[in-house]
Amino acid sequence: MMEKRTVMLRIGELWLKSEPVKKQFMKTLLRNVRAALDVAGLSYEIEEFRGRVLIHGDAGQIAAAVSRVFGIVDVSICTTCGNTPEEIGKAAVSLAKEKLKPGMRFAVRAKRQFVKGFTSQQLAAAVADAVWNEIPGFVVDLDNPEYEIFVEAREYGGIVYDDRIPAQGGLPLGTAGRSAVLLSAGIDSPVAAWLMMRRGVVLSGVFADAGRWAGPATRGLALDNARILSTWSPGRAFPLWVVPVEKFLDAVYASCDTHYTCLFCKRFMMRVADKIAANNRLEGIVSGENLGQVASQTLQNMKVITASVETPILRPLLTYDKEEIVGIARKIGTYHESPGDTTCHAVPKKPATRSDSEKICSEEGRMDLEALLDEAVASAELWIAKDGEIYQKERRELVAD
Ligand code: ATP
Ligand code: MG
Repeated sequence: MMEKRTVMLRIGELWLKSEPVKKQFMKTLLRNVRAALDVAGLSYEIEEFRGRVLIHGDAGQIAAAVSRVFGIVDVSICTTCGNTPEEIGKAAVSLAKEKLKPGMRFAVRAKRQFVKGFTSQQLAAAVADAVWNEIPGFVVDLDNPEYEIFVEAREYGGIVYDDRIPAQGGLPLGTAGRSAVLLSAGIDSPVAAWLMMRRGVVLSGVFADAGRWAGPATRGLALDNARILSTWSPGRAFPLWVVPVEKFLDAVYASCDTHYTCLFCKRFMMRVADKIAANNRLEGIVSGENLGQVASQTLQNMKVITASVETPILRPLLTYDKEEIVGIARKIGTYHESPGDTTCHAVPKKPATRSDSEKICSEEGRMDLEALLDEAVASAELWIAKDGEIYQKERRELVAD
């Protein structure tokens, strides 16, 4: 059998699932893998066998594309060969030649499945011997090796690799339901969105456009966040509802105790997202709220925000430190070095850190909340982000939907 370079995927958490669920997950994962490779313009051939996925083609480019697909724990570029200890040993030697030097601590990790005639220990010993013949002088150290080679003898062939490229982990996108996400121009909410996507949830964004109440860079950044998030779900649309809330904020400043503006605003955004969720069969509302980060994010205020809707509010960043959030934002590409002016001018000088539902409800009663809500949702624009581009959907198309 000829030696070939191939990409092997390692899939996370599948072992937790029952057989039929596993099958479904695998199907979704492979669909997402194909979409990622198609969007990257690569040609490839996928081979799946007993939970192992091998992808043949340009290994470097394929590895880069699939290491962004959710549900994959890590990716290895490996050599495939015949499944005899001799062939596997030969492939291991050509791999080790580049990296193993005399004196280095070295380990062979061997697996064998459905292949008769030798044990995995014997396979490891045969591979170590073959390597020693070409590159003598290494020190076997199974606990703390400087260089490791992984070899597998399977009924369909041998696999040899020495590197594991970490991927994203999580679950295949599309296996954990659909949700809305309150997506802003900030750092937190795109990270919250990405963490939910990584857990398999398909998202639709909702951005509250505060018009003149918000700094001029705000809207563009929110659109850009949706655009970047769409690159994490190749071939799939990431819808973004842009909902005008300028009139709502005008009403707050005309009639209510503005110490509570951020609470009124958060509750209003939740209600907007709730309506959009109900119309689009979305089962939750994701937010980037984080315990203690700003005045509206005390437990007590979150309780009041939570009470505004019945749909579950999902807060994946609740316990994260800002530094961790920024780290993820940089990695996923939503961290903007110089974001421009996104100041919210509706934020009061002294925002309330404590509130109670009764007070908030009676203050909200000073506005015609239902009318404001209906008008905001009715005048929403629908944008579609896909594969790193974003465009506005025509009203005509919207109606046709
Ligand atoms: P982020 O938290 O995303 O960095 P932020 O700091 O401007 O944005 P916060 O005041 O922390 O916003 O709001 C908490 C959460 O409320 C956000 O993470 C986001 O989910 C939601 N949110 C805030 N502003 C908006 C907006 N204009 N449109 C939609 N959602 C918003
Ligand atoms: Mg925030």
